[in-house]
Amino acid sequence: MITVLSGGTGTPKLLQGIKEIVDTKDLSIIVNTVENNYFSGVYISADVDTVLYTMADMINEEFWYGVRNDTFITHERLAELSCPELLRIGDIDRATKIQKTLLMQNHSLAESVDIQANHMGIDSKIIPMSNEQSDIKIITDIGELEFHDFLIKHQCEPEVKDVVFSNVSPAPGVIDTIKNSDAVIIGPSNPITSILPIISLEGVKDALKDTYVVAVSPIIGNDSVSGPASKFMNALGIEVSSVGVAKLYEEFLDVMVIDEKDENLKDALGEIINKVIITNTIMNSSDVKIDLAKKILDGIV
Ligand code: GDP
Repeated sequence: MITVLSGGTGTPKLLQGIKEIVDTKDLSIIVNTVENNYFSGVYISADVDTVLYTMADMINEEFWYGVRNDTFITHERLAELSCPELLRIGDIDRATKIQKTLLMQNHSLAESVDIQANHMGIDSKIIPMSNEQSDIKIITDIGELEFHDFLIKHQCEPEVKDVVFSNVSPAPGVIDTIKNSDAVIIGPSNPITSILPIISLEGVKDALKDTYVVAVSPIIGNDSVSGPASKFMNALGIEVSSVGVAKLYEEFLDVMVIDEKDENLKDALGEIINKVIITNTIMNSSDVKIDLAKKILDGIV
């Protein structure tokens, strides 16, 4: 079995490659939930929904959020009613979110996601990292901001001084899934707000230490491919490079995959981990995604 730790953008791109070369029944995806909250009256679990849509071949690949070719009738009508939404939620996507909100009246988040995955014909196991509500704050030069306010309202512009999130318990199955895996792939998602929340769950680091772990860097050169990862790493005093990412995962990491533009980091990385794979990691075509997945899983599947 292969397990992938995922956030919302980089890792779903990689999942598109992985699902072409592994039996999807043997794939588990543990997904960040730290930014989950209620918006517009529905529960929003953005990274989980992105993974659901990716595995169901419905994802909007322009934003890595929401459903391809969705309409925005409700979103636009709400704005006309002087009720503008912070998040731009499509109509089909909203149905998923309403379904999840209704399911959660009688089920945990993990059970609800399981039911939704079944409805979408997904045979991989998608596990939200926790059933508990967490709290994440971005501490900036203009004060303490909610994650989505920082991301959307403020367009990631304020200077970031710190990122803090609450501790939650892992969802049932998270630890056993990692322990029973032939390999765990840490996808190229935001190391601070997507991966750190997962690896900070009680028992996860110990489970990873006993498992073969491959990480793909979301940083090329001294910047993230997209999103605010570099700002967050900087704020936490972590070097913004693939070396900084490797140091963050050092205690359980076996292999680091970096972009060919970072070949010069090979020696520095060699001092931290056993093996470095250097390849094209810019996943702008299905060929690159499949090729990257093959290189990661070479000798494993
Ligand atoms: P976000 O920072 O809130 O958008 O968090 P996500 O967990 O969604 O992850 C986004 C991360 O994916 C960013 O740090 C990007 O650098 C990374 N990413 C996006 N596309 C690619 C890609 O094609 N290749 C690599 N290596 N990283 C990518």
